[in-house]
Amino acid sequence: MQNYLTPNFSFAPVIPDRAAGSRVWDTEGREYIDLAGGIAVNALGHCHPALIEALHEQAAKLWHISNIYTTEAAQQLAKKLTEHTFADKVFFCNSGAEANEAALKLARKYARDHFGAEKNEIIACVNAFHGRTLFTVSVGGQPKYSQDFAPLPPAITHVPFNDAEALAAAVSDKTCAVIIEPVQGESGVLPAEAAFLQAARQACDKHNALLIFDEVQTGMGRTGKLFAYEHYGVQPDILTSAKALGSGFPIGAMLTTDAVAPSFGPGTHGSTFGGNPLACAVAGRAFDLIHDPKTLQHVERSGELLKTELAALGKETGVFKDVRGVGLLIGCVLADEYAGRAGELTQEALKHGLMILVAGGNVVRLAPSLLLNDEDRQEGLARLKAAVQAWLQA
Ligand SMILES: *Cc1c(COP(=O)(O)O)cnc(C)c1O
Repeated sequence: MQNYLTPNFSFAPVIPDRAAGSRVWDTEGREYIDLAGGIAVNALGHCHPALIEALHEQAAKLWHISNIYTTEAAQQLAKKLTEHTFADKVFFCNSGAEANEAALKLARKYARDHFGAEKNEIIACVNAFHGRTLFTVSVGGQPKYSQDFAPLPPAITHVPFNDAEALAAAVSDKTCAVIIEPVQGESGVLPAEAAFLQAARQACDKHNALLIFDEVQTGMGRTGKLFAYEHYGVQPDILTSAKALGSGFPIGAMLTTDAVAPSFGPGTHGSTFGGNPLACAVAGRAFDLIHDPKTLQHVERSGELLKTELAALGKETGVFKDVRGVGLLIGCVLADEYAGRAGELTQEALKHGLMILVAGGNVVRLAPSLLLNDEDRQEGLARLKAAVQAWLQA
């Protein structure tokens, strides 16, 4: 097929056409098990009937209205998000990068409002991923995504992930924010240690800096809790969500407290499509389904099963040396002799009717539907095993 898009993506050789639950069919009619979930987006699988209903209902009522008005759909979603988290106020946007952009801008503004313009430094983690806008690639800790777009925004320092001492040493009275992914997603599915997040909270409290948790990937049920910070007992001042929030409909959100929100006064920040009624209606329905204790228990149970089964497959075939992650965000670390070849395995898996992801060159990542059933999980594992065997023989 002729490709009319800019070459920043290298597309897979199949074209998905339709999907239901954890199954996808391409334009040739071939079927796939989807254990990628659109990179942790399709939290309720594909084309969930309740989401279709919410979308259709809202589509017949109101699609878009300018941000000089609020809507019931936006207020209801914000109410759910604040009632079930640390937060009191929500800013809506359209993606994870935009949610982080808002979080970082708010942190700079809050520090300036309360402590002066010199309090502007941001502490982030090596290998972090926060999105692809200029500010978020700069705060992200992967120079390969930022260096070619220099000059970059200044006053950003990176410390090694899970190095509590380095973090404590980096935070000072000039720090306006510390931003952390509770589980580093893109760079290998690496869970934060509790001591690291606790150290971040302490350092922020000591120096009047804001703690930002980027839960764009870990958020909305992915780890078996609504948000991953609940596992740690450490509360942020700002939290960002996107990906699973709309479960396939584009929406992002920045959550914060009543103490911090006033720095985003009228006119300070905005987004034409942020809080779009269609997105909020779908996300509102998705919230109810994800927040259901049955869903969260299912994530915990099927995540444990999947991890155990993947570890067994890794041992049997010798390809994985470790399987890690929380809930249904799982990383299979390739054994040393296969290091750097995760992409090859995902390509082989696709040939065997299985969609999976990489997280860096050494980790195969799975982020399936939170509703993944036993049959699809087992069939997915069988296809992965076949793919691994074919790959080893190639
Ligand atoms: C995907 C991701 C983002 C960026 O989200 P977009 O919707 O692609 O802008 C930011 N942070 C984390 C942790 C992510 O996983």
